[in-house]
Amino acid sequence: MVKNFPDDPRFRDLLGNETHYLGHRLGQLGRLQEAEQAYRQASEAYAELASDFPAKPRYKVNCGHACTHVGNCLAGFGEFQQAEEVYRQGVALLEEVEANSPVADSSTENSGYLLAWAYSALGALLADTGRLMEGEEVLTKSVAVAQEVVDEFPHPQYFRTVLGSACLNLGKMLRIAGRLPEAEEAQRQALSVALKLVDDLPAQPRQRRFLAGACYRFGLLLTDMGRMPDAADNFRHGQTILEKLVDEFPELPGDWNSLARLLATCPLPELRDPQRAVELAKKAVELAPDSEYYWSTLGKAHCRAGNWESAKAALEKRMQVSSRGTRSDCFFLAMAHWQLGEKNEAIHWYGQAVEWMESNNLHDIELHRLRAEAAELMGVNEERTSEEEEGSFRNDKQ
Ligand SMILES: [Zn+2]
Repeated sequence: MVKNFPDDPRFRDLLGNETHYLGHRLGQLGRLQEAEQAYRQASEAYAELASDFPAKPRYKVNCGHACTHVGNCLAGFGEFQQAEEVYRQGVALLEEVEANSPVADSSTENSGYLLAWAYSALGALLADTGRLMEGEEVLTKSVAVAQEVVDEFPHPQYFRTVLGSACLNLGKMLRIAGRLPEAEEAQRQALSVALKLVDDLPAQPRQRRFLAGACYRFGLLLTDMGRMPDAADNFRHGQTILEKLVDEFPELPGDWNSLARLLATCPLPELRDPQRAVELAKKAVELAPDSEYYWSTLGKAHCRAGNWESAKAALEKRMQVSSRGTRSDCFFLAMAHWQLGEKNEAIHWYGQAVEWMESNNLHDIELHRLRAEAAELMGVNEERTSEEEEGSFRNDKQ
């Protein structure tokens, strides 16, 4: 239709919408590369409409929305520079709309809500890549803009979810900065938004997923603060929510995967159940064998269960499905090879992961712990490795 009627914006608008929702669906199935393509198509359709009809803010708003999705996919693949570029394009469009002709209704085209979401994603990336001051500035704006939208329209769940995730990302940034009491305050706000959402919409699985994620993040923070019983309560609460979700929606791979991740990687050893995590992760892989993301979880669960051959096989399969975004999996692959006595391969994969972390200046706390775990297992002297193996790109940066 778009080809037959190139001048009719309605078909192009429809194409943008349909590819956008296709992206959502593919994302739910863990097919992130295809989701990225769909979101790109949506953002291009809207970018063209926005340039042909500059007086219509809706096209810019939808383009900004799709840009945040594309950025999220890229960030998920560990392609941070590209993600940042796309996020910034979306932010620029949405800031322009907010300044000149804001869309201030209760629909998903509200420009304030989408700007808050775009700030939240960009701020989280800035924090993860070591730019804490700018990250804090952007995330503070995100919370403020989202709060304004929620004050004006207190009911739509998507506005409240964005407020909750903005608080969650601010909390993550403050945790990276070591400002734990402030992180606690932000994360408590996220939790209270999430709890209220689940109270108001108990049948909505999306809100329960969000609450489970907020509980997990809060558990991580409390672990850092040494408050283990509170941390355990939060991890358990997250687990209970996910257990119910897999019962209710056994056909959706994402919940099996999240539960497997929790049981494989929970920082409190008494709450881990790697054997069960393997079974759960297998279920996700069965439901969606084309998702690199679920193969990755299966590999990690096998590692935690000490099944080194199976771990290696699952992680290799993961890289076959897609070689993008593999770098944090490389630490697990390195550990599996090491345990199998394949030291050269282990050192190779460890080096790949370290190079990726250093070149992106990654500050993610869990990733640093994983790196330290792999280094300890392999007896790598981190200081020496940094100088010897990473000298070339360190010099590039300086
Ligand atoms: Zn969307």
